[in-house]
Amino acid sequence: MSVLSLADVYRARRRLEGRVLRTPLVESPALSTVANAPVYLKLETIQPTGSFKLRGATNALVRLAEAGCRRVVTASTGNHGRAVAHAARALGIEACVCMSSLVPPNKVEAVRALGAQARIVGRSQDDAQHEAQRLVREEGYAYVPPFDHLDVIAGQATIGIEIAEDLPDVAQIVVPLSGGGLFAGVAFAAKQIASAVRMTGVTMENGAAMHASLAAGKPVLVDEVATLADSLGGGIGLDNRYTFSLTRERVDEVVLLDEASIARGIVHAYEEERLVLEGAAVVGIAALLAGRVRCVNGTSASRGPIVLIVTGANIDIDQHRRIIGAA
Ligand SMILES: *Cc1c(COP(=O)(O)O)cnc(C)c1O
Repeated sequence: MSVLSLADVYRARRRLEGRVLRTPLVESPALSTVANAPVYLKLETIQPTGSFKLRGATNALVRLAEAGCRRVVTASTGNHGRAVAHAARALGIEACVCMSSLVPPNKVEAVRALGAQARIVGRSQDDAQHEAQRLVREEGYAYVPPFDHLDVIAGQATIGIEIAEDLPDVAQIVVPLSGGGLFAGVAFAAKQIASAVRMTGVTMENGAAMHASLAAGKPVLVDEVATLADSLGGGIGLDNRYTFSLTRERVDEVVLLDEASIARGIVHAYEEERLVLEGAAVVGIAALLAGRVRCVNGTSASRGPIVLIVTGANIDIDQHRRIIGAA
């Protein structure tokens, strides 16, 4: 008995209708030439909060709101926090984002601009996390985790349905990999619909918690290191319930990238695809440019279409300028 069913994913898709965009799948002539196979970009960057995280957060919040919940909390200041804030406002419920005093003011402002409460506590992400847990215990908030939750996974999985609908002969899907909510969801849906599809996860060399956990056969801790792919940082949780096993069951390969390759991906996206992308979103492009994505279609010798999920646009614009300027 699987924890997730394809029916759950179709139900998630109905909940997202009118709230989250059905994003386009656009062929990249430049990358198709590099790969010697058709390459398509799944453009999650055009979601209202600039990343796919809106899918999982919206699915989880619609379900919570239907169950009568009026207040949600998270401790993420990145794309998940933005997504929770946006979805809460759309549903007319209260959102609180707990963060430490070390979070830069522009991130605090971004959360407040989305109508959420920013609660500043302590001096570490751990302190922020504890405050979120306290709000759940003592003040009746519902916690919405960034990846290890079945409604979040089912929301991200709607991307897999869209890809299978738009490109039924898809041979390979390349997914930025961190906590694995995106990978687990997309791999689940895509392999249910197109069982021969090859699923490739891509992440940075330094601090890749899911990769280290897959290698160890169980969730492990890794040291967090600064990376251009900042949205891929963070652990998977030693008490991981869903994303580790769902990912392990369906992952065909994991590709690790160094920082220079990620920078090249940001430059290629800008110059050739005319896209401003954050580091986490370019890892598929970067892996392909580095010759690290080799399409092997399980059923034939032909090189079938490759889809790269382009996950987010939320890069600090000065950092983007510096990377483009240095190229
Ligand atoms: C969160 C995120 C990812 C990784 O998603 P997981 O579900 O944590 O694996 C990739 N790209 C961007 C832009 C993200 O915000």
